[in-house]
Amino acid sequence: MIQKGTTPEELNRRKQAVLPAWISTNYERPIELVDGEGFRVRDSEGNEYLDLFGGIVTTISGHNVPEIVEAVQRQAGRIMHSSTLYLIESQVRLAEKLVELSPIRGDQKVFFVGSGSEANEAALLFATHYRRSSEIIALRGSYHGGSFGTMGITGQASWRATPRSALDVSYAMNPHPSYSPLLEGMSPERRAEACAKDLRNLIETSTAGHIAAFIAEPIQGVGGFIEHPEGYLRRVKEVLDEQGILFISDEVQTAFGRTGSAFWGVENHGVEPDMITMAKGLGNGLAIGAVMGRSEVVDSISPKLHISTFGGNHISSAGALANLEFILKNDLQKNADEVGGYLKGRLEALKEKYEAVGEVRGRGLMLAIELVGPDGSPDPAAAMRFMEACRERGVLVGKGGLRSNAIRISPPLTLTREAAGEAADVFEDALAALGAEVRR
Ligand code: PMP
Repeated sequence: MIQKGTTPEELNRRKQAVLPAWISTNYERPIELVDGEGFRVRDSEGNEYLDLFGGIVTTISGHNVPEIVEAVQRQAGRIMHSSTLYLIESQVRLAEKLVELSPIRGDQKVFFVGSGSEANEAALLFATHYRRSSEIIALRGSYHGGSFGTMGITGQASWRATPRSALDVSYAMNPHPSYSPLLEGMSPERRAEACAKDLRNLIETSTAGHIAAFIAEPIQGVGGFIEHPEGYLRRVKEVLDEQGILFISDEVQTAFGRTGSAFWGVENHGVEPDMITMAKGLGNGLAIGAVMGRSEVVDSISPKLHISTFGGNHISSAGALANLEFILKNDLQKNADEVGGYLKGRLEALKEKYEAVGEVRGRGLMLAIELVGPDGSPDPAAAMRFMEACRERGVLVGKGGLRSNAIRISPPLTLTREAAGEAADVFEDALAALGAEVRR
């Protein structure tokens, strides 16, 4: 049911009454979503939108998917219990399926938690135990979560609300010039080479020399959908392997076929991680995360204990298993590749045409465009106006990046080519409404 008649004043009042000051609702008039179907959602004012940002937050298979809803309802009617004391059949089956799909070779274990932050916390715990070291290397521009440990390895200052870190963290150079201006003008190959060299130098000259793990997102999500140049992670892995440093691939945004060309984002780079962390799309809206990794690393904290009361509980495991089966049965990865390829082409055409569109990046259904001023510099105000203009035209997108000028597109992987075309038409209309100059 759509609840009509919730006024903008009422929505603003609710926001101000109960939410902390830093919670951003992105739009001048907050949006309150009340229902959804596939890749479309509706708000409490009765407006319908194409949901091109839901993939960031939750949905990979779409909203209100009967198979997933039924699995959750069936489970709710049987038992809801703690995940840590007793075996849960759907959790075991989910773990088996994930391991079957895993790019990591050899014996593996999956540990379920309730969120992406918790998954990274667990991975860091396992890595630091296994390697008997508290030193971690993360990338500039990274985002790994909102807990103390994960904020401490988040390379973006605005998301690090405290300078404290539970770990000894060094930030490696990011091969993208927006995070490492020194690399401006270099070819992707040179950037990959320079950053891998810098990593070796960082380890040798600026750390205690015994690093537990290197952690990276295959495509930086909050960072603005920053893709690493071809060869970068391969070269990084060579450096890590020289010293036995573990590689954690944070796939909270890039897993389950999101990038189209691979099931796990890291597979696009041809390297094998020691651990993969996941959340968001794993539960298609349910609160579930996991770390999957080499058994000897995951088991290394034994005989100490580590638990997550709600991690992989009956409801979230039943839903996540149905979700994973839906992703595989419908080959959503292939759809992400095809529809994402088409949409990227349309975004590149907008870049050709409009001065306000800077870099177009990403792959599969994880795409971004930068909005820039006449001199090519980031234009966050234009990004805000663009989001509002898209909203008025029935499309929800996100923003992000170091300067908040990257428009992020991450829809459910069920998006059709027709709907992607509809979105691209809206983007063009929104750019025209902003008065964007056509390139001459
Ligand atoms: N890692 C990445 C790459 C993320 O994008 C996020 C969430 N934006 C997290 C970790 C943290 O996940 P959660 O918010 O579920 O704790």
